[in-house]
Amino acid sequence: MSDKSFFVDTTKCTACRGCQIACKQWNQRAAEKTVNRGSHQNPPDLSYNTWKLVRFSEVAEPKVNYYFFPDQCRHCLTPPCKEVADGKAKGAIIQDEKTGAVIFSPRVRIKVEDFKEIREACPYDIPRISGMRVMGKCTMCFDRIKEGILPACVKACPTGTMNFGDRKDMLEKANKRLDEVKKTYKDAMLANPDDVRVIFLLVDDPKKYHKFAVAANTIGITRKMALKRIFQPLRDLRIA
Ligand code: SF4
Ligand code: SF4
Repeated sequence: MSDKSFFVDTTKCTACRGCQIACKQWNQRAAEKTVNRGSHQNPPDLSYNTWKLVRFSEVAEPKVNYYFFPDQCRHCLTPPCKEVADGKAKGAIIQDEKTGAVIFSPRVRIKVEDFKEIREACPYDIPRISGMRVMGKCTMCFDRIKEGILPACVKACPTGTMNFGDRKDMLEKANKRLDEVKKTYKDAMLANPDDVRVIFLLVDDPKKYHKFAVAANTIGITRKMALKRIFQPLRDLRIA
């Protein structure tokens, strides 16, 4: 097996949630108790049992528009979650050398305070924990891909939004599609393609899709440090 990646072409997503259901089904994750919250998005967030979530955002200004974002772990090339976990609970997070898949061990229990640091280190706010203090998130369907089968979300997607394959092929596909959509959407972009193995194509301000659509911090600094860098100069100005 070689270095793998996803390409997620959000311009083709219809928010049908087939990927979300396929992920639940294949990975045997328990259902969430949900209520109608006045939004198409359900459940409201990722959880220990929900690893793939189609985020639905309705933006009213300057005109009403809808943004669909099939969220999941980005399988970072140098995963900050693992860097923190290695110093707290060795073996809690491993990275497959061949594919690059970042996998949370279902056997390692984590202290709550250590988990907070691991979650905070993730630029995309992905890690979640169970009541038994075991972490959970997308595994890249490692049990499928090692047999040469597509991840469940990719297999289920009927629109061509979810793509998976060798990293160089996915990067090529993503850049080719970016060139195409830029003719219509001048702000189109790929979200952190050099840092992640789940590459999203977006055609508008990433914040309109989801708060963590692009990295809230650069790899190597935590979200708390990133926010401090933004707000510290303002505090210094006030003091001066
Ligand atoms: S997206 Fe977050 S949880 Fe996934 S590999 Fe990167 S840092 Fe870890
Ligand atoms: S299955 Fe494909 S089209 Fe449907 S919500 Fe998921 S990514 Fe979008």
